[in-house]
Amino acid sequence: MAGSRPQQLPRASKRSEKGRVCAHEGCPTVISQYNKREKCWAHAEMKIPRLRGRNPAPAEG
Ligand SMILES: [Zn+2]
Repeated sequence: MAGSRPQQLPRASKRSEKGRVCAHEGCPTVISQYNKREKCWAHAEMKIPRLRGRNPAPAEG
């Protein structure tokens, strides 16, 4: 289009534009906008398959 005037795009002032933080309270993990999950991988309700079938690692500390 000819004679297109440059429009001043508003600066991204909203913080929820590009990304958002984990829904878990106190979790600063930023989740990608493409990620439809509300929580990060650490807090998302997902079943993590156990690689170790037995002998759980001793809790240190
Ligand atoms: Zn999280």
